[in-house]
Amino acid sequence: MEQTLSIVKPDGVKKNLIGDVIRRFEKNNLRIVALKMLRVSKKEAMGFYIVHKDKTFYDSLTSFLSEGPVVVMVVEGDRAIPKVREIMGATNPKDAAPGTIRADFGSDIEHNIVHGSDSIESASYEIPFFFSTLEIQ
Ligand code: UDP
Ligand code: MG
Repeated sequence: MEQTLSIVKPDGVKKNLIGDVIRRFEKNNLRIVALKMLRVSKKEAMGFYIVHKDKTFYDSLTSFLSEGPVVVMVVEGDRAIPKVREIMGATNPKDAAPGTIRADFGSDIEHNIVHGSDSIESASYEIPFFFSTLEIQ
């Protein structure tokens, strides 16, 4: 069993895709074990994406993540980390496999609807960033 952090980013919330994202996880035998909607500040977004602090897109990405409400969730299941990444599709919607969330709904490499932890290490930073152990079922 693995746990991973997923986010419906501000563009996904605006496009009414919260249910669709959750549906795709659940259909693939993954369970939602924690869930909330919130708005992150620019500073919090910078902390969440600290691994990207030296990238050219860091400023733009962290402004985007803080521009509107997001839905954050902990998703659990067998191989949850790679499974969620597979359901999401490649970072750039143009490169994402047909039928993935990003291929179906993403607008461009930044506005790609959804986040998913990329490793056990990043999940163990990202899950407690948003949830206390008491909030995870
Ligand atoms: N991103 C961007 N420009 C890039 C690469 C990434 O704006 O050239 C954004 C995009 O929203 C992406 C996020 O930064 O989802 C984090 O990048 P990462 O490489 O970790 O992609 P992910 O793990 O989300 O597929
Ligand atoms: Mg990433």
